[in-house]
Amino acid sequence: MHLSSPLKKGSEDPYVKTAQQQLIALGYSLPRYGADGDLGDETLRAYGEFLVLEGMRAPTDEVPKSITVPGAAALDRAFTGIPPVVQGHKYFDERNKHPHDGRSKSYPYMKWSEVKAIVLHQTATQLGEKPERWHSVPIHFGITRSGKTIQLYDLTEVCNHAGNFNRWTVGVEIDGWFAGVEGRAETLWQPKPPAPKRTAMNLPAAQADAARACVKRIIDIVAANGGKVTHIHPHRQSSGDRQSDPGSLIWQAVGLWAQQQFGLSDGGKSYKIDTGRTIPVDWDSRYAGNKY
Ligand SMILES: [Zn+2]
Repeated sequence: MHLSSPLKKGSEDPYVKTAQQQLIALGYSLPRYGADGDLGDETLRAYGEFLVLEGMRAPTDEVPKSITVPGAAALDRAFTGIPPVVQGHKYFDERNKHPHDGRSKSYPYMKWSEVKAIVLHQTATQLGEKPERWHSVPIHFGITRSGKTIQLYDLTEVCNHAGNFNRWTVGVEIDGWFAGVEGRAETLWQPKPPAPKRTAMNLPAAQADAARACVKRIIDIVAANGGKVTHIHPHRQSSGDRQSDPGSLIWQAVGLWAQQQFGLSDGGKSYKIDTGRTIPVDWDSRYAGNKY
């Protein structure tokens, strides 16, 4: 979006909201007012910090009095240039390195306004740390055991990751085999012999952190494009044979965390679609009576 004349404090020009969403996506917080479309001191202060980092303004305590045309252009450039997940060297953009076979044939793209939810998965295998190992996985993001974030698809591509959830969700696969319910060995999915018997994996801190950062980033990017993520779901809710997906450990570390941090919903105690199963009380103590 291009600006033709500067915007003064107090402006409610439609561009103000765009600038606010771009600042948020770039990591500048607007804690009190958010992207409210009103150009106040909070936004101008964040904009000033952005200009300082861009080398377009000397560091000073003064809050800029307006958003200038070159300032807005720099903001646009910075916003366009950010990868959808920024985690320094640990973010791997693999989107252009594979044929996108995991995209829905009948409904390949959704609009930003249709992206409503995030679905969490466990891979139930070990894909490992090499990004190319993930190319055939029909998922937007993979999170490795060491905390790498691997992006495989654009957020608006409809991937075949979770049945009828696909058309409004972004998927995150967390690598490893995890118990359906922590501490209950019988809830860990076992491969057929002669494959060796598995014992449940833990969730390393770096992997949990990366998964949480990925969730936050998805929410921010969707917001910056005019949409709104309102829900987070376990794959289990859409598929009966994915009972342990993603398991209590991941659900509590990432799914419940996202609900508390961002006010997302899991659909509630009796929510499921198709053959899916409700969230068990073993995963969420609010849901007394829900069986694993
Ligand atoms: Zn899954």
